[in-house]
Amino acid sequence: MTAPRLHPIYAEMPVTIFEEMSGLARQTGAINLGQGFPDGPPPPALLDALARACAEQSHQYPPMAGLPELRRAVAAFYARTQGLDLPPTSVIVTSGATEAVASAILAVVQPGDEVLLFSPAYDAYAPLVRRAGGVPVFVALRPPLWHYDRAAIEAAITPRTRALVLNDPLNPTGTVASAADLAMLAELCVAHDLFAICDEVWENVRFDGHAHASLLAQPGMESHALKIGSAGKIFGATGWKVGWIVAAPQVAAVVGRAHQFLTFTTPPMLQWAVAEAMDRPDIAQSCTARWAETREHLLEQLTREGFALLRSAATWFTCVDLPASGIALDDRTFAQRAVNEAGVAAIPLSALWEGANAPTHIARLCHCKPEAMLAEAVDRLARWRDRTA
Ligand code: GLN
Repeated sequence: MTAPRLHPIYAEMPVTIFEEMSGLARQTGAINLGQGFPDGPPPPALLDALARACAEQSHQYPPMAGLPELRRAVAAFYARTQGLDLPPTSVIVTSGATEAVASAILAVVQPGDEVLLFSPAYDAYAPLVRRAGGVPVFVALRPPLWHYDRAAIEAAITPRTRALVLNDPLNPTGTVASAADLAMLAELCVAHDLFAICDEVWENVRFDGHAHASLLAQPGMESHALKIGSAGKIFGATGWKVGWIVAAPQVAAVVGRAHQFLTFTTPPMLQWAVAEAMDRPDIAQSCTARWAETREHLLEQLTREGFALLRSAATWFTCVDLPASGIALDDRTFAQRAVNEAGVAAIPLSALWEGANAPTHIARLCHCKPEAMLAEAVDRLARWRDRTA
């Protein structure tokens, strides 16, 4: 029997590693330290705001670019926390950061354009670039520090290079680009007229005491960059799927045209609640403070059980060096066996790497969980390692 031909990019694609590992965790009852999401409800003030919005506000289509109140609150949040001077018209609200990435790529990439991606790269970038007709060109970051190598980036730039995607802070490593990295990337973007799509969803999940600095804020980048943020990450409500792009108003307007034919709008009651929470600095700060504790807890437990960790300063994740932790398995085998045999789901870092020389010795664990759950997970991993070593 013949069937209509579907697009090979999707027809030949497996489900994401996050979906796969969460599915296995559900099936086996394993503790899920794979896909990144907090266990437990978001801040009560956010839920109160949502309940009020549900009762009092319209449930019909909000404006395509987002509620004016949320666009203003996002601009004010960035003025307060990152010193960015952006009018509300520079903000387009999207249904999550992944939709923001898709809108940005659709608005920037034309067939034949090359787009620089840094490995490890979040799994959505390359397929979206390809679906837009572009060609992803990978520049590898190397463990353990994952720094940006100017020579390697310059070597990857050709006359067809149109854009780069920068994920900073970086998922899955939890590392942060240095001030020198940002200055270097900005210089290259301006010199080669590249557009930077900056996925900064982890901007508020930093544990090094520094305020996040955006590539968008670098000299010359107002016209060369857009930045993507996520309420799900700021407030620990990943299922809400409220994100945004910010850029110079004329750039934001064009990305808005891509957004209007993807999801068009984002549920208004969620936007009202996020707008209210963004105006209260204490809510976002208390989320970050809570995750600093869960992170400390996971790091302590892992270290006590002899797991070797890579250095990180941000995100809900920490990376374990498997061989240095006494686990002589590649990361994919480890992840499969750990979920089935130890009862703990993790993410193999090489699942977020395309091309040659993928590091296969690193697994990512999520820390934004109750302390008892983290303790139990580490205990299970340690006992399993000791049984199987
Ligand atoms: N950002 C999440 C993570 O890295 C995954 C989101 C998703 O599953 N699409 O774990």
